[in-house]
Amino acid sequence: MAAQSVVEAAERLQRIANALSEGNVNLEALYEEALAVIEPISEEEHLLEELEGKQLEVVKRVFLFRKGALNQLFRFISLLPDDLKRRVGAAINRTKSLFETLLKKEEEEEPIKFDVTVPGRSPEVGRRHIITRTIEEICNVMRQLGFSYTEGPEVEDEYHNFVALNIPEHHLARDEKANFYITDTLLLRSQTSPVQIRYMESHKPPIRVFAPGRVYRPDTVDASHYYAFHQVEGLWVDEGISFAHLKTTLLLFSRLMVGEDVKVRLRPSFFPFTEPSAEIDFSCFVCGGKGCPTCGKKGWLEIGGCGMVNPNVLRYCRIDPERYTGFAFGIGIDRIVMALYGINDIRLLFQNDIRFLEQF
Ligand SMILES: [Zn+2]
Repeated sequence: MAAQSVVEAAERLQRIANALSEGNVNLEALYEEALAVIEPISEEEHLLEELEGKQLEVVKRVFLFRKGALNQLFRFISLLPDDLKRRVGAAINRTKSLFETLLKKEEEEEPIKFDVTVPGRSPEVGRRHIITRTIEEICNVMRQLGFSYTEGPEVEDEYHNFVALNIPEHHLARDEKANFYITDTLLLRSQTSPVQIRYMESHKPPIRVFAPGRVYRPDTVDASHYYAFHQVEGLWVDEGISFAHLKTTLLLFSRLMVGEDVKVRLRPSFFPFTEPSAEIDFSCFVCGGKGCPTCGKKGWLEIGGCGMVNPNVLRYCRIDPERYTGFAFGIGIDRIVMALYGINDIRLLFQNDIRFLEQF
């Protein structure tokens, strides 16, 4: 018997059972009709072989379920004449036991649903963000160089962010379009340098500290600009500190952070809080200085700024510039992260897209 005819038989039997439960029928005629459906089925031994999915469900429901059509028909056979009762009873019992046997056989032959060879689903393991990891590396390197960790608030006042850093009232850096002002005198710090001031206010030389952290500027967002970024500030103030200390510190920092082959270049520049001042370039650690898209084919990466602490800044912090000198530098952490990990768009560092971050 083909799969289709088994299903058809099941549906027909269901209609007969429905008619029976609605009452007002010719019982004998109805059971004769049922018998015509059941008897040929009870002789079949390969009924279920071609059935699958929905078909099998329909057949099981009609022939095997306690409230299925077959059991429903069985419940009323006592109302039938003896001869018909015997024939129907026998056919129903044969059919039921046939289905039970067939289903049992099928279950035994069913393929194993639990496949032990399928690779397991491993739990998602979190990890620290590449910026966090790089900051931790920077902390290790700076500690190896003898600097201590310090930090300052991200919401700064004008005094620490500008005034004490020798940035005059009408300097462009203080413009309200160049900063995130919160009130007339409070702003999100635009650099990590105010941490220098706060540290020098509360400590006497010798001072040798570093301060990593997030800074904010309302830059137009593109592949190389974001309105928040990370800097690490370095400050060493003591008797006899010279530019040579600064250059050596930067050289050691670059080698410990990036590798033995990296070169450091200082270009003369101007910052109000240092004198003399310089821009810090590292030889590109993606191409080794040959020129590549990351360094804009220049072979050098602009990493930050540095210089000897301006005597005015020392005076603001009540440190005698006749006795003490010092250097300070500010290095862009995001640029180091981007070059180290080969990332060409700073926005990726802030979007927290797990598909991107889990590559590292
Ligand atoms: Zn390069």
